[in-house]
Amino acid sequence: MATAAKKDYLKGLVPYRIKRYWAYIAATVVALVLPWIKVGDNHFFLLNFDHKQLHFMFVRFDMQELYIMPFLLMLLFLGIFALTAFAGRAWCGWACPQTIFRVLYRDFLETKLLGIRKNIKNKQKEPDWSKTENKVKEGIAILIWSALALVAAADFMWYFVPPEDFFKYLQNPAEHTVMIGFVLGVAAFLVADVVFIKESFCVYICPYSRVQSVLFDEDTLMAVYDPIRGGKIYEGHGEEKHKIVNKQKDVLAQNPDNECTACESCVRVCPTHIDIRKGLQLECINCLECVDACTTVMGNLGKPSLVQWSSERETEKHAGKTKYFRPKILGYAGVLTVVLAMMFVMGSKKENMLLNVNKDTRLYKVYKDGTVENSYLGLFQNTDTKAHKYYFSVDNPNIEIVQPREPFKIAARNKRKKVIVLRAKKPLVQGAKEDTSVPVTINAYAVDDKKKISIFRKIVFLYPSDKNKAAKMKK
Ligand code: SF4
Ligand code: SF4
Repeated sequence: MATAAKKDYLKGLVPYRIKRYWAYIAATVVALVLPWIKVGDNHFFLLNFDHKQLHFMFVRFDMQELYIMPFLLMLLFLGIFALTAFAGRAWCGWACPQTIFRVLYRDFLETKLLGIRKNIKNKQKEPDWSKTENKVKEGIAILIWSALALVAAADFMWYFVPPEDFFKYLQNPAEHTVMIGFVLGVAAFLVADVVFIKESFCVYICPYSRVQSVLFDEDTLMAVYDPIRGGKIYEGHGEEKHKIVNKQKDVLAQNPDNECTACESCVRVCPTHIDIRKGLQLECINCLECVDACTTVMGNLGKPSLVQWSSERETEKHAGKTKYFRPKILGYAGVLTVVLAMMFVMGSKKENMLLNVNKDTRLYKVYKDGTVENSYLGLFQNTDTKAHKYYFSVDNPNIEIVQPREPFKIAARNKRKKVIVLRAKKPLVQGAKEDTSVPVTINAYAVDDKKKISIFRKIVFLYPSDKNKAAKMKK
């Protein structure tokens, strides 16, 4: 009977650990490959301080066009809140570089490759450091990880300095000491973090662990121990919680039907050194190693695991099925959809030219014949991939363009400063006691493609009062 049931629970079982490895491989491949993929000259994501550009979804935005940045930040934060409310620290266990690096270092390098640690199922037992052999092997592990950390640091950098520039800059290190220093600094931090700080980073340093608990509710998915089936292992509340049983006989003494064998497989395997039977803890990164451990122990006894990837409602309180589509989650999904839609709308309004027009310091110039001129400094920027000829018009028929007289060429992704002089051919205001700001709209466009490249900017033309105009005309 037990053998048949055991087959049921363990047959075809793919541990969460293996699924996590696949998630790690996918995340690593995406992180490494993404900076190399280009559509036209644009990357999927690149925040390039060098050229003052943001590339997002293969669209290039100049610094003046960073109106999608607030939406990106909103998506990031709301996305983290939504994911945490839905699935706890799933990011930490399944995709965070810190966890991936620790698994690579501790479980692959230290345990599988070099045998410094005996078993990936016991993460509590430290290697025997009195053995010289282990010290030498640890040195080898650090060297291998240092090389990998350099690759990881370079990969991180490629989201700020694209690979095509990065390798060019490496050939001339004396001129790019900041970039090289940054990569070396990140690599050094990764070595210190992964080799010495370890999971203390997740527990004490990472701010995410501090905020996550306020986002949880009783339907949040996480590793949960079933105290009703397994038996009570801890008593008390919060910090006061203390262990009341250590052996199976103590568990059975509470109730002969209690199922926890007190084998502590779930405790030994935990990378953050906690006991999931104590309930929800900030340190839990949702890696589900304890679920795998108990699934094997209980599966061999022909029973379902006592630690499940589930919710407090379903597994701890036995108060019904987990509510996946609850108001909080639907609210997050709604807000995220709106922000995403707004971001696409804003992104689609990307202009193929930019223009800044600033009035010069002189108010106006008045000629003896009564004509009035205003001067401005215009910064025209061609954000398109090919060169264009640019010119502009003004919406007031009584104002003419004195300078520049002709359309002018700007190379692809280049900018040009132009002095703009506008002249009022006829009086714009009469009988005014004060100088008057007359609103004017400039329509700048590419002469060769006005349909696609055409933008409007509002400026003011300062027209003198009658008294000021008369005074200047006399000079
Ligand atoms: S209790 Fe430990 S092993 Fe279990 S999911 Fe949390 S961090 Fe992982
Ligand atoms: S692995 Fe399961 S049976 Fe063993 S101590 Fe943990 S909860 Fe109890």
